[in-house]
Amino acid sequence: SSWWDHVEPAAKDPILGVTEAFLADPSPEKVNVGVGAYRDDDGKPVVLECVREAERRIAGNLNMEYLPMGGSIKMIEESLKLAYGEDSELIKDKHIAAIQALSGTGACRVFADFQRRFLPDSQIYIPVPTWANHHNIWRDAHVSQRTFHYYHPETRGLDFAAMMDDIKNAPNGSFFLLHACAHNPTGVDPSEDQWREISYQFKVKNHFPFFDMAYQGFASGDPERDAKAIRIFLDDGHMIGCAQSYAKNMGLYGQRVGCLSLLCENEIQAVSVKSQLQQIARPMYSNPPVHGALVVSIILSDPELKAMWLKEVKIGMFCYSGLKPDQVDRLTNEFHIYMTRNGRISMAGVTTGNVGYLANAIHEVTK
Ligand code: PLP
Repeated sequence: SSWWDHVEPAAKDPILGVTEAFLADPSPEKVNVGVGAYRDDDGKPVVLECVREAERRIAGNLNMEYLPMGGSIKMIEESLKLAYGEDSELIKDKHIAAIQALSGTGACRVFADFQRRFLPDSQIYIPVPTWANHHNIWRDAHVSQRTFHYYHPETRGLDFAAMMDDIKNAPNGSFFLLHACAHNPTGVDPSEDQWREISYQFKVKNHFPFFDMAYQGFASGDPERDAKAIRIFLDDGHMIGCAQSYAKNMGLYGQRVGCLSLLCENEIQAVSVKSQLQQIARPMYSNPPVHGALVVSIILSDPELKAMWLKEVKIGMFCYSGLKPDQVDRLTNEFHIYMTRNGRISMAGVTTGNVGYLANAIHEVTK
């Protein structure tokens, strides 16, 4: 017998499992609208032109030294401008503790560990539904989870009334995970007025808003507009937390580049918090990778490349189709169309070549 006899196979990830099944299907008609990644009209992966250009500028010039423990100072600075506003006083006054993170997942995980370490009795309220990995992240960080209403299946919109009730009924000072924009998996976001009401109620209840912003630019096509929810909370004086990812909006999936930030009361507090965030990262991965961070900081700090990026980012991603799990099963089994069983369609998987086939198949399983 060996050391690992008792190890059973882990449950398949619901999203990555869809891609595996797609790859194994020999049908020439197969369609994958499961995975949240940019594809060109032939279904091939896309690298943004601004990224290609940044890489040309880096080529041959990059040394392989370690980044500082907290990551690229320049990348962090540019990320904060995107989230908190180009001219934010909070950035100038150094009120924000921030570290480069291993994309959005890593940012959420370091925050969850920080929450557990410094407020061990706190819980996290997570929307229903949400990106499935949120549950895993806070579970592994040993933070207990509650849920709040978000999506309303009948209207395929926001269940605003139920959401507000949950916010009001949560104990004062609760932690809430909010999708800053382009909610995954539903694609449903509160309106600006609704965000104002949510922010107001958070103030009344002294709740902590943690924004997961994995798709800045994907909801409206404009990263600035997509930061609106965060800006409303900042205007109302909330001490927010924020996880940023460049996986989607720069198509840097495998580079694992993102940013975790926590707004603090003052610079002294921010220095302490940052040092603790770094200390959490140190035994996990020491310091973050350099290449993707350089790509991001070059693009965001160069007006020409940034303008190029802003043009390239104007595409949406997810749409909650309302398809039921058995209808999704029929799409997969009869039509070789792959998506998660919650009916989420990644619009990037829809191409000129397959849109007719897809539409017809959806019609067949829903009529
Ligand atoms: N948060 C949400 C809501 C997501 O949908 C995703 C990715 O699908 C992430 C975070 C994290 O992605 P990454 O770690 O690749 O940045």
